[in-house]
Amino acid sequence: MSTVVVDELGARLKTYEGRAAAVAGSGKDPVNEPMIRHWCEAMGDTSPAYAGPDAVAPPTMLQAWTMGGLSGHTGRTGAYDELFDLLDAAGCTSVVATDCEQEYLRPLRPGDEVTFDAVIESVSDRKTTKLGTGYFVTTRMDVRVGPDLVGTHRFRILKYAPARRKEEGKGEGKGTRARRPRPVVNRDNAGFWEGVERRQLLIQRCTDCGTLRHPWLPGCNACGGLDWDTVEASGEGTVHSYVVMHHPPFPAFDPPYAVGLIELAEGVRIVSNVVGVPFDKVRIGLPVRLEFRRYDEPQGPGDEDGPLVLPVFRVQEGRVQEGREGGVG
Ligand code: ZN
Repeated sequence: MSTVVVDELGARLKTYEGRAAAVAGSGKDPVNEPMIRHWCEAMGDTSPAYAGPDAVAPPTMLQAWTMGGLSGHTGRTGAYDELFDLLDAAGCTSVVATDCEQEYLRPLRPGDEVTFDAVIESVSDRKTTKLGTGYFVTTRMDVRVGPDLVGTHRFRILKYAPARRKEEGKGEGKGTRARRPRPVVNRDNAGFWEGVERRQLLIQRCTDCGTLRHPWLPGCNACGGLDWDTVEASGEGTVHSYVVMHHPPFPAFDPPYAVGLIELAEGVRIVSNVVGVPFDKVRIGLPVRLEFRRYDEPQGPGDEDGPLVLPVFRVQEGRVQEGREGGVG
């Protein structure tokens, strides 16, 4: 026996698949050196490929050349807005961007004039996620220079009716505690979190040029190499900088607390909590040592979520005086 759930809204949304969201849009500016320079400075990308007379634009800037800015896109058809109106009217009033995929077919160079078309590629069936129930909408933008397709940009959002939180109306003030936000694990950083599970802090190493990098990235910023292996951090480090968080409050944290930028002995830096001293004793230059801490122990047999293991850094006993005042309060 099976039950057929008729989702009238879903059927109506499906009719938008394949409809144009933008036709013959054009970039607000040609590909240009100033925007490339600003991007590289913001990203800390010093690759020589993006400067000089033979410069190309970083491939990941693809979307930057098509963004509408405050005055909006040219070429919009209204189909995307109609789809959003339907979803809003059905109570799916919240939106979250879930992921983006890009393909690069040839490099863009200063002077290239970009045009684009966008299509509503797919609307999912109704899905229930931790955020709520709604529909994933995937839009594909094809970016061209003249007749040539130079790249595609797929952008997926979830438009949903927010779920009522479990905590609402029950358990408040009875010792239930908000859980820490969970890391977003994806194919680029999965190895890092697998290491954490084994109580190892793994640093990525480019196998072409040997440069270490953290956080994990698909490619090397020094040479562009895509192959990598890992080295295990010794666990020694110093506080390179820190902030003390007072506001805004997050339910799983008790402000004030110190968030440190730790420079590992290997030379890369990692953001983590500094533990072992009160927040106002954290100083730049303090020696710290890695340890792994468990957070959010299961609160009973019905709690299927396991604890969260995170690398944190403990100030070494008796060494609190070694640092110097700094950071931003
Ligand atoms: Zn490299």
